[in-house]
Amino acid sequence: MSPSRTGIFLAKMKRKRATAKEVYTLADLKKGIDPAIRLGVFGDPVEHSLSPQMQNAALKHCKIDMQYARFRISRSELREALDLIRKPEFVGVNLTIPHKIAALEFLDGAEENVMRIGAVNVIKLETGKLHGFNTDGRGFSRAVREEFSVDLRDLRVMIVGAGGAARAIALQCAKENCERLVIANRTIEKAQNLTDDLRDLFSGPRVLGPVARLQAIPLEETAIRFQVANVDLIVNATPAGLNRGDSSPIPSRLLAPHVMVYDAVYSEKRTPLVSAAIEAGARAVNGLSMLLHQGTLAFEIWFQREAPLEVMRAAIR
Ligand code: NAP
Repeated sequence: MSPSRTGIFLAKMKRKRATAKEVYTLADLKKGIDPAIRLGVFGDPVEHSLSPQMQNAALKHCKIDMQYARFRISRSELREALDLIRKPEFVGVNLTIPHKIAALEFLDGAEENVMRIGAVNVIKLETGKLHGFNTDGRGFSRAVREEFSVDLRDLRVMIVGAGGAARAIALQCAKENCERLVIANRTIEKAQNLTDDLRDLFSGPRVLGPVARLQAIPLEETAIRFQVANVDLIVNATPAGLNRGDSSPIPSRLLAPHVMVYDAVYSEKRTPLVSAAIEAGARAVNGLSMLLHQGTLAFEIWFQREAPLEVMRAAIR
């Protein structure tokens, strides 16, 4: 090979080495990773995650010489994967399905709302210790303010779902003293458990009219129809809409023009709920803005500096 072709070949190899793989695994964590991956998202599946493009854009913009990558980590691999990142050079990880609840038992410490929500979506490494945070609720609050120009405290909110995302959103609504909160879930017991957990935050007086300030209901037509007339914001915190062929968790005929609809599911196309809401004449958005804001909050936890919001927004647009 001529000297100039050798040079090109070496440059190509170097570039190849410096580019992160699409998805890393537990085996990669064990053997050590080149280039300098110091952050990531653990999940299974994880291929769909938009966090790498958002966080890598922020790192580059802030001239932080690190990379953020996807890690496909199964349920049974979580403990070992979390042990393997207990290194001084590792900054932190995001957790997504199915680890947000399972990771709780491996934390060395956590902010107060993590235990109250019962789910963790951000881990920061500090001297080899795993500290847990949950940025979903605060990310949701910022997203609602940005999308609809309203604060949660001025809203009557109905959340569909009672899993990890719903619990984070419900706690945020409660902390911001929303007008009223309704939890609608397929399994009513889970909705009741959530309202029981939040009861102490709803003890203050508020002007309400004939409806309860905090209420759990089944995901059934009659109950939903009644509540839609008595709420301002409807939130989908179920995975309904994530997969092709899913139907809307609330059909168009039950929605009304006065409601705002926030679908925590995000996709490039309209989600089934967003389509149903628009058909009913309501304002509706998907969960991309919540993804953005929970991501900026994570960046701020890891680096103790303001996240470049517009750079991160452009990266996921
Ligand atoms: P999760 O803990 O598994 O909870 C799922 C909840 O959805 C449960 O209450 C479940 O009801 C209900 N559910 C599941 N399938 C349903 C269906 N087909 N119809 C009606 N209800 C259904 O999940 P999660 O962690 O809370 O996440 C929920 C969704 O939120 C995710 O899929 C994701 O799209 C979204 N999310 C978005 C962001 C963001 O940044 N935009 C952040 C976090 C989560 P049962 O109790 O009856 O099983």
